[in-house]
Amino acid sequence: MRGLTFQGLNDVRVEDVPDASIEEPTDAVVRVTMAGICGSDLHIYNAGEAFGFAPGSRLGHEFIGTVEAVGADVTAVAPGDRVLSSCSVACGECTWCREGLASSCVRWSLFGWAPRTWQHGGSVQGAQSELMRVPLADTTLHPMPESLRGEDRERSLLPLVDVMSTGWHGLTAAGTAAGQSVVVIGDGAVGLAGVHGARAKGAERIVCLGHHAGRLETATALGATLVIDSRDDDEITQLVMEHTSGEGAHVVIDSISGPSSMATAHATVRPGGTIACLGMDHFMGKTPNVNWFDQFLRNISVTGGLVPGKRYFPELLGLVESGKLDPAPMLSHTLPLAEAAEGYRMMAGRVDGVTKVALRPGA
Ligand SMILES: [Zn+2]
Ligand SMILES: [Zn+2]
Repeated sequence: MRGLTFQGLNDVRVEDVPDASIEEPTDAVVRVTMAGICGSDLHIYNAGEAFGFAPGSRLGHEFIGTVEAVGADVTAVAPGDRVLSSCSVACGECTWCREGLASSCVRWSLFGWAPRTWQHGGSVQGAQSELMRVPLADTTLHPMPESLRGEDRERSLLPLVDVMSTGWHGLTAAGTAAGQSVVVIGDGAVGLAGVHGARAKGAERIVCLGHHAGRLETATALGATLVIDSRDDDEITQLVMEHTSGEGAHVVIDSISGPSSMATAHATVRPGGTIACLGMDHFMGKTPNVNWFDQFLRNISVTGGLVPGKRYFPELLGLVESGKLDPAPMLSHTLPLAEAAEGYRMMAGRVDGVTKVALRPGA
């Protein structure tokens, strides 16, 4: 079968890779109909060797598809079922899974990430491929609701697998409530998910900070009541204060989580407010500084963290079904799998009008 591999700095290729197959009785094999390229994949693209990626490593963790085969112990899904997959494998039984924190599962493994996270034998599976072996299929896969099946709905569903769930996780952890003000730092897919999720939670004022005209237009379409393209912290703070009755935001979603974005977060959050860190800049050595004076004197909370697998799928699917949520505009481009390298180039180069690229292995 065909699958995307990492080859070195800014070099990914679609090649022949071993066919996915059932290796454990709890496995399923899924034919991927749509897979996303994620901002975290770009970190591999730009610095994969630093993360331990060897040439030939498979990439991709965001996918939806059709169950092709199941092992003898799989009961929740059957061949032919349309499914969303969690971006990570989890057991559903351990303490952390039962507490809703599947990202800390004792058997947690992330698709398409460095071999050190993989606990399920065989090769690390990458979603930017024709087929995927899905370990612990009963608790890793989630059935697609009948009303949302069909090729035209896939663009609304793929973002739920990671970026929409990630944005929702930050908003939920920060206790976002109807009528509140939310500032979202960053106009990438997770930032847009923060904006769109804030609207679905009933936030009244939603500010998106970014530097890409096309993405900020999408932010407005997804619910932002103000977009700001500025690198001047004083100007940003002034505009946010003017938009929030001089108070600042109840919730700041920091989709970058580096030193500069954290300073902006502290400057725009209101007393008693919460900053949710969802970005990965700290993985690249750009560690954000929590302003501990501010945290103490103004009672600021800091939360966020890694998306807990498929925890929010039922809630988010319900919102898509009812028409309250439609993250499809986050996917700016859809390409055949064969053109995946071009998709990486477009996203990494922040080409105007490019937000997030989806790949269609069947196309
Ligand atoms: Zn992702
Ligand atoms: Zn578990």
